[in-house]
Amino acid sequence: MERRKVEVNGREYDWPDAPIVVVCIDGSEPDYMDRAISMGHMPWLAEARQTGTDCVADCVVPTFTNPNNLSIATGRPPSVHGIAGNFFWNPETGEEVMMNDPAFLRCGTIFAAFQEAGAQVTVITAKDKLRRQLGYEMRFGKGVGICFSSEKADQATLAENGIEDVLDLVGMPIPDVYSAELSEFVFAAGVELMRRDRPDIMYLSTTDYIQHKHAPGAEVANNFYAMMDGYWAQLDAMGCVIVLTADHGMNAKHDPASGEPKVVYLQSLLDGWAGEGKTRVILPITDPYVVHHGALGSYATVYMRGVDSEEMARRLFEIDGIMEVHSKGEACRRYELPPDRVGDLVVIGECDVTLGTSAERHDLTGLTEPLRSHGGVTEQKVPLIMNRVAAGLKTEGLRNFDAFDLALNYAVTKSEPAAAE
Ligand code: ZN
Ligand code: ZN
Repeated sequence: MERRKVEVNGREYDWPDAPIVVVCIDGSEPDYMDRAISMGHMPWLAEARQTGTDCVADCVVPTFTNPNNLSIATGRPPSVHGIAGNFFWNPETGEEVMMNDPAFLRCGTIFAAFQEAGAQVTVITAKDKLRRQLGYEMRFGKGVGICFSSEKADQATLAENGIEDVLDLVGMPIPDVYSAELSEFVFAAGVELMRRDRPDIMYLSTTDYIQHKHAPGAEVANNFYAMMDGYWAQLDAMGCVIVLTADHGMNAKHDPASGEPKVVYLQSLLDGWAGEGKTRVILPITDPYVVHHGALGSYATVYMRGVDSEEMARRLFEIDGIMEVHSKGEACRRYELPPDRVGDLVVIGECDVTLGTSAERHDLTGLTEPLRSHGGVTEQKVPLIMNRVAAGLKTEGLRNFDAFDLALNYAVTKSEPAAAE
């Protein structure tokens, strides 16, 4: 019999014959898993990498959370789905526009398409900022669809989220927005809902609070990865096909001797060269939760008015710590970005260097640990791991947004999936 297929944004996916769980581990530089495994903290993952599929993939640049989560959810790069960061600048109104609203999405998601085709879909995120975009065009209700964040789990309703009384179900209190528990709640809820509903498709997306503060191999990081390993083992025991990937990596961005963040303040430089008000530096990492990174990442875009942008690009490229400077056209071709949401220049910092606007506009008092962050090309390598063999998979050129392709089109599922209980 011909297997049923669902087409989403020009890609075709087979109907799942076991529950699919795709996990996006925020900021999961590959070294976190390698170190945790080598130190004996992830027995399930160590086994899954041996017996399943163990690859490294490229994520989307800018290596930020929203563009990558939306790429995984749609199977396509930002040039198709339209989300290139948390912010873009509207030169007509002079306003910074936040791209968190679903209205900014330019294509549908795999979740909504499968739901439309009759699948039961469950989406759980750590932070609420992602929840509305990932739930775009989804229908909510028992047996149909669920989408909520652990941040606002206590406010979830049947009408808006397809679920209520989440805290009772999970048996955990509402976690603090800056905590490891915010991510743990995602997995605890995922396991409970897999047991209760056995949805066809589940997407679990964490927050990188731990990775911003702790390097691979550190005790806190290892405990965090051990926690996840335990939940994945439970999902595996329920017969789920599990694909693990990340939205981006994470690197140290500070001086190793002093612990001070390494920052190139672009707006100050450009104001000095072109005059004030001629250029506008946008840092698309900026969002309402900047405490753990001070809005410092390794990617910036610059809007210009009446300025020789080639001259500015040349001068920026000479600055120590700047790795790449591209015109809008070049950046959009190379990184598959939507031109109307990118400035005239794209600037990328070296591995250990972040890009800021001006020193007085970054509040770094919340940085209790030496800065670790992301955004640049040096955070593009992420894990792409599945607890099943992938039949006929070409491992070159894999992207993190191939996660559902891997799970639905390549997983060799066990002939007798384990019973749900
Ligand atoms: Zn992230
Ligand atoms: Zn982050």
